[in-house]
Amino acid sequence: MDGLAELHTHLGGSVSSDILWTLAHEQGIALPVKDYWDFDRLVTVSDPRGVPNLDALDQIYHWTELIQSSPLAVEVSVHAAIGGAYRSQQITTLELRFNPMKRNRGGERDLDHIILAAIRGLDRASLEYPQVQAGLIRMMDRTFTARQNEIIVEKAIAWASRGVVGVDIAGPRPGGVRYDYRSVQPMVEDARAAGLGVTIHVGEEGGDMGREELAEVLEVLRPDRIGHGILAAGDEELMRDLKAAEVVLEICPTSNLLTKALADEDAVRSVFRTFVEHGVRFTIATDGPEMMHTHLRDEFELLLRIGALTQNELDEATVRSHEASFVRGGFRAARV
Ligand SMILES: [Zn+2]
Repeated sequence: MDGLAELHTHLGGSVSSDILWTLAHEQGIALPVKDYWDFDRLVTVSDPRGVPNLDALDQIYHWTELIQSSPLAVEVSVHAAIGGAYRSQQITTLELRFNPMKRNRGGERDLDHIILAAIRGLDRASLEYPQVQAGLIRMMDRTFTARQNEIIVEKAIAWASRGVVGVDIAGPRPGGVRYDYRSVQPMVEDARAAGLGVTIHVGEEGGDMGREELAEVLEVLRPDRIGHGILAAGDEELMRDLKAAEVVLEICPTSNLLTKALADEDAVRSVFRTFVEHGVRFTIATDGPEMMHTHLRDEFELLLRIGALTQNELDEATVRSHEASFVRGGFRAARV
């Protein structure tokens, strides 16, 4: 299959700073900075040493989500992200994920209008880049109430015929305590029954607590894919279960380094070698190329340079990425 595939990229991290800068001004959003380069530092992980933790990353997302909180901005953002991915990286299979309820100013904007604007951006990109197959993943949030997450999934199902291909959940753990993934089990079951793909952010950080969450997600939510899941690399049982369930991990190496989820390149190499040795399936992604200042090919170069994967293993990951994409109908074998 020609072209690359990227399955894990957030809309809030996929739009270049210059486009966000113009969008912010067009909409009269009050920004804390007046200089473009200060703005660039505000909306990206600009320090090569990264951010202290995931909370610091959420601070950056706060700005990109605020700027994307209108129908116009969502349409422009989706269109720009798809076109940019094809022009810069020849990505022909792309899944973009975002939470529409973090883009409607706390209910001030009509949620359906935001969603339809994203679909319009997708349609316009399809017209300009017919080589690209792109889809949208709707994200629930761990800080949201059950009802809020329910609405997000209801809307995902309602718009499934128009390019919404899957559901996900992310966001900080409320109170810093272990998140109870069973609370979203009914929503995930509904999404699956409606033919949507299921990918879940879990096992990115949090040590033993993160590993417990991963085990619970595997058992209770039975996802097709997992966002990150790198904590499984230290756990024989989790790796056995991931392999048996044919779950595909979406691993974002640079993002993991920038957020300190992985300490250094040695840790990145170790995670990949462990997964290869244990037959755990994975794909490579950026988490958000603009925010992370990295693109898919930069990730490939990093993994080759540090000896995490061979060229052959990278090529296999690309094929797997296309195959595991919800846009192309790739779901866990166990489901069909
Ligand atoms: Zn992510």
